[in-house]
Amino acid sequence: MENPKQKAKMYQCPKCHKHDLKRIVSKKNGKPYWICQGPTEVCDAIFSERDGEPLLLTFGDPDPTCPCPECNAPMRIVKGGQYGDYWSCTAYPKCKGALDIMPDGALPPLCPEDEEHGPMRIRPGKEGMRFLGCRRYPECTATLEIDGSPSKKQNGGEA
Ligand SMILES: [Zn+2]
Ligand SMILES: [Zn+2]
Ligand SMILES: [Zn+2]
Repeated sequence: MENPKQKAKMYQCPKCHKHDLKRIVSKKNGKPYWICQGPTEVCDAIFSERDGEPLLLTFGDPDPTCPCPECNAPMRIVKGGQYGDYWSCTAYPKCKGALDIMPDGALPPLCPEDEEHGPMRIRPGKEGMRFLGCRRYPECTATLEIDGSPSKKQNGGEA
């Protein structure tokens, strides 16, 4: 006999390994997604859904050749993220350091305004276009095209 009511299956958060995931349906677009039930200060894991199950991330081994821009601890590649793969600090959740991966697999370029700002982050832009923005935004508003070339946006366009 089959139970027509689907039993709520529990998934342990693959990021913090402490809490279970909770299914949420977005009020904005009706799309379901899964978040970690832990407090956001501890774990901010978020997963999109595929076939009724959370699309879980996989975590690579710590790579000492890729130090965290925040705390210098080795980082590891996280695969299956909502916005693609990225590097995450192994000291997470103590350190929220993260690095994006460029379409060609390389790390994003350093901030053109000040290299000490570190590698830029990939940001969602208009019409599905992505661009690179300084991780110190809004303190630093430097941007680059997604391929690392100078931003085509006009400066000071907003009134
Ligand atoms: Zn978690
Ligand atoms: Zn770190
Ligand atoms: Zn900057």
